[in-house]
Amino acid sequence: MAEQGLRQAGKALFHEAFGAAPALAASAPGRVNLLGEHTDYNGGPVLPIALDRRTVVHAGRASGFRFASRFEPGAVERRIDEGPRGHWSDYVIGVVRELVAAGCAIPGVELAVASSVPAGAGLSSSAALTVSCAAALARLAGHRLSPVELVDVAWRAEADYVGVRCGRMDQTAAVFGRPGKALEFETGTGQRRLVPFTGSVHLLDSGLRHVLVAGEYEHRRVECEEALRRCRRAMPELASLADVPAGALPRLGRFLPRTLARRVRHVVTETARVREGVDALQRGRRARFGELLFAGHRSLKRDFESSCDEADAIVALARKAGATGARLTGAGWGGVVIILAPERSAEAIVRQIQAGFARQYGRVPQAWRSRASGGARIEG
Ligand code: ADP
Ligand code: MG
Repeated sequence: MAEQGLRQAGKALFHEAFGAAPALAASAPGRVNLLGEHTDYNGGPVLPIALDRRTVVHAGRASGFRFASRFEPGAVERRIDEGPRGHWSDYVIGVVRELVAAGCAIPGVELAVASSVPAGAGLSSSAALTVSCAAALARLAGHRLSPVELVDVAWRAEADYVGVRCGRMDQTAAVFGRPGKALEFETGTGQRRLVPFTGSVHLLDSGLRHVLVAGEYEHRRVECEEALRRCRRAMPELASLADVPAGALPRLGRFLPRTLARRVRHVVTETARVREGVDALQRGRRARFGELLFAGHRSLKRDFESSCDEADAIVALARKAGATGARLTGAGWGGVVIILAPERSAEAIVRQIQAGFARQYGRVPQAWRSRASGGARIEG
């Protein structure tokens, strides 16, 4: 939905749910990670772009806490002293609680959410929600948050209150993303750098949802922690797996069971791919950047074993159809595949992939076209 339409829909929803006009609105984008998968919790770099799909929240002062989303009819009433309920409003109440903890008094609020970010597809609808809520509610309370504080409030709402074990990539992309730029974010140091990324990306939905395999993701994190402990026997000063020099991999093999050695190899080679990818983008070498995506997918499939048949099929079809790069993005075992293709032939390539996928799986995967866009903002 075009941005203006989304704002209108949000405003209409606010009116419908609360019978009044909102005081203000803020929005934040979803994101897609171009390169750097499973590096975030291993101290390595990630390279997301903010998408041109956004979540808009309209808000107004009230005596209690009532939230509406186009997810479901009506409004939900919450109290800020209650625990999470496993409901989408947890994300919002998490933000309210974090803002209060940061000294921002919020006696009550009515809030309506409209979004064009597909939820649960790995495009970070959750950070788009928490970041836009944090921006709107802080402004409503007359509180000034720096961009880094905005990231922090949104991240803690999700990590501490909702209880999702996630790094700060999603919130950082939703705040610091810029049009025509990818954001290199060093999760170990918090450093950020914008690199040129113009043109379109195409996103193909594998149709599988990562919630179903949340246990696998958790298992990989535990494996990485165990691998780090073992690597430290040889390199006691090692801060994180991403710091393992590529040349040390054969030597570390002695300390690692085969499976863990492959997990480490993924983290180390993926870290190198992000660094090389940033260099390729800065030099305008899009073809090289695309190859790094294909290589990244192979590594996810073989070494990290976090892909799935559907994603592998999309990547194989993409290569055959003439895409310059493709890989599964997000937590894994489903979600979205990014496709990079020459602008002129991209639409035809995507159609060809969809047709090939439909022959194998009997359904046409949903596709979205997007481009690097701007981060969180107060809507005029
Ligand atoms: P992702 O962030 O990849 O989309 P998550 O599982 O982290 O997937 O977050 C999805 C959850 O975020 C949804 O189940 C819902 O609770 C919440 N959410 C996201 N967007 C909205 C929205 N527009 N309205 C209400 N809740 C939303
Ligand atoms: Mg999320």
